Amino acid sequence: MPKVYDLHCHSTASDGTLTPTELLQHAAIQGVEVLALTDHDTVAGLDEARAEADLQGIELINGLELSVTWGGQTLHIVGLGVDPDYAPLKAGLAELQAFRQWRGEEIARRLEKNANIAGALEGASKHAKGGSLGRMHFARFLLEERHVKGLQDAFNRYLKQGKSAFVSSKWANFEEGLRWITESGGQAVIAHPARYKMTATKRRKLLGEFKECGGVAIEVVSGSQSKDECFVMANLAKNFELLASAGSDYHGPGNRWIELGRLPPIPSSCKPIWHDWA
Ligand code: AMP
Ligand code: MN
Ligand code: MN
Ligand code: MN
Repeated sequence: MPKVYDLHCHSTASDGTLTPTELLQHAAIQGVEVLALTDHDTVAGLDEARAEADLQGIELINGLELSVTWGGQTLHIVGLGVDPDYAPLKAGLAELQAFRQWRGEEIARRLEKNANIAGALEGASKHAKGGSLGRMHFARFLLEERHVKGLQDAFNRYLKQGKSAFVSSKWANFEEGLRWITESGGQAVIAHPARYKMTATKRRKLLGEFKECGGVAIEVVSGSQSKDECFVMANLAKNFELLASAGSDYHGPGNRWIELGRLPPIPSSCKPIWHDWA
């Protein structure tokens, strides 16, 4: 029997709703055998996750989901098997955390000024519980205060690009971010590639540059991609000789993506990223 892998998910260290311990307990219930915890721009949940992974007999991969800027666009790069103590990675993540805090203050200022919604920074920070502050925490605050009908509605009305509380961001430099991952011994994976709005030409340019910078895989299977998108990505992986990764992008019970560990198989035309893992 092939092992059950899930190589993309979130805990309270970023915008997931389960603590690392609860996440690993849930992974055990779901029958996940190899799990990568990939919080946004932080590795702070990994120690706690590892303690519970050992108790549950789950193989934990040290991961993260890095926000990078490429050609003016925000992309997410999953790092798998990184060394969380690698100094350049730690320094880079510290900068991203400081930026996230500043951006949070700015989102709150805009909500107050443009939508007359007060107290958003305090409200969002309460949801973040000291973890990596993100737009999802603002969405939860907006929902709790009944300014929106749902999390999706919060993004559609206030938080997504073009809306009144959106703050355009300069994340990690693409090349540099890939170096933090690869030089710390990790494998770099383009997260949910179907989610980026770009032409086919630009996508090919991205994949070319990604490979040049040491990237090795794309998420062919993602909780946020349809079956059709999966086959498009499988073809791209084959054409660019990239490995295929698979992750749910789970954020906790009741969130919009699929269940932890319940992923369709990687198409047989692809080589899974774990093909040479010991
Ligand atoms: P951030 O990195 O703080 O800008 O937040 C990005 C996160 O917000 C993603 O990882 C998702 O969890 C969430 N997100 C982004 N866009 C949407 C959307 N349209 N609907 C719901 N959640 C979203
Ligand atoms: Mn998220
Ligand atoms: Mn993402
Ligand atoms: Mn994610």
